[in-house]
Amino acid sequence: MNFDFDAVIVGAGPVGSTIAYYLSANGLDVAVIDKKRQIGYPLQCAGILSRHISDTNELPDEVILNSVKGAFLHTKNHILNVEKDETAAYVIDRIAYDEFLLNRVVENGAEFINQKVIDVDGERGMVCLSNDCVIKSKVIIGCDGYNSLLAGIMGNAQDTFPASQMLVKIDDESICSFRNSHDDVEDYVDTYLLNEILPGFLWIIPLRDSLYRIGLFSNQNHKIQNDILTNFLDDNFEYEILEKYKGFIPIFDEANALVKGRLLLIGDSAGQVKPTSGGGLLIAFDACRMACRHVIETIENEDLEMLKGYESEFRDKYLKEFSYQFKVQKALNILSDDDLDYLFLKLGENGCEKLISEYGDMDTQSKLVKEFIRRGLLFKVMPTFLFKKVTNIFGLR
Ligand SMILES: Cc1cc2nc3c(=O)[nH]c(=O)nc-3n(C[C@H](O)[C@H](O)[C@H](O)COP(=O)(O)OP(=O)(O)OC[C@H]3O[C@@H](n4cnc5c(N)ncnc54)[C@H](O)[C@@H]3O)c2cc1C
Repeated sequence: MNFDFDAVIVGAGPVGSTIAYYLSANGLDVAVIDKKRQIGYPLQCAGILSRHISDTNELPDEVILNSVKGAFLHTKNHILNVEKDETAAYVIDRIAYDEFLLNRVVENGAEFINQKVIDVDGERGMVCLSNDCVIKSKVIIGCDGYNSLLAGIMGNAQDTFPASQMLVKIDDESICSFRNSHDDVEDYVDTYLLNEILPGFLWIIPLRDSLYRIGLFSNQNHKIQNDILTNFLDDNFEYEILEKYKGFIPIFDEANALVKGRLLLIGDSAGQVKPTSGGGLLIAFDACRMACRHVIETIENEDLEMLKGYESEFRDKYLKEFSYQFKVQKALNILSDDDLDYLFLKLGENGCEKLISEYGDMDTQSKLVKEFIRRGLLFKVMPTFLFKKVTNIFGLR
């Protein structure tokens, strides 16, 4: 069979551009296709990336808007402060980052095709475009986001949480009084746990010059989320809303396949998002590096079975961590606002701010959960009548 490309990537978001770059840098003939006129628009990201980003992808200084070293974690009536001695995370200009990643792959010699993909044949390697062109490729990689055509063609269920976000100007003094702290406002993010929006949460992310991204993900629709955000702002700050955005965060489903025939999924199309935080980029960039190795091996050996090595490697590395995070989410989900307050009060009383600062991590929660269990802290911080339910969730009885 004759093919036009070794690999065609559907979607030139951050994930599509990254896998396309890795493959073209390894000498493969690659095309990346996107339907958008302007890559990255509209913004659908809070733009916070843990400091481990540099282990998985290039992050140029020009796209970094701010660096943060910690967080204020809020319930209705309590606040915990956790922080690292060094930068814990970067806040980025996500649109500029998407543009950087696409330029990098085009400069590397990959072809960019500005078209919508309307159908794909994963057995024969055919990609049909909205301009009636058909492209043939040995491997087709779906990086087409949360409502993925390719995931649908593979028969995957695609569940999501709605997410809403605003760009808001807030007076520094009202941020300080919300945190009950006069530490530098730009050094910290805030998270807010509220029974109404569980299993999601609300975030405040400082950019610079008194600008913040305030958003939430939850099971509610965008209209309700917008009302919750507006009420939250009214209750706590002097503010001015400059922009509003909305999007969807995929929910990982381990029953879904990542590989079928010549098709392979990475990023939001594969649900590769941290269950507790909704962050997708770090994991998906790591998945790009895994996928790159297996795609090259597949093409060199002309053996499609080898593509499945990507799925096995991803599952081996992430399934256990995802399972911990789903359990954390499930445990939080049974707590009322009063229970959340009790939990935070007890966490404070038991010196857990230090423990969370040391073992907590934006990317993984299993280490922290294990430490809580090892030190017998679950009993001390959970409302007594919920202790049994929570230990059952973590399989401790
Ligand atoms: C409100 C919100 C806040 C978030 N905050 C963070 C955060 O702070 N940190 C973090 O790490 N993650 C965050 N995420 C998640 C992160 O944005 C996603 O995980 C990430 O964008 C996934 O990248 P992707 O390339 O897989 O998909 P996308 O960025 O969605 O890109 C998909 C691309 O595919 C193209 N496409 C789709 N269908 C077709 C088609 N048929 N033909 C051609 N092109 C097509 C689209 O045009 C798009 O360019 C957030 C998500 C939301 C919604």
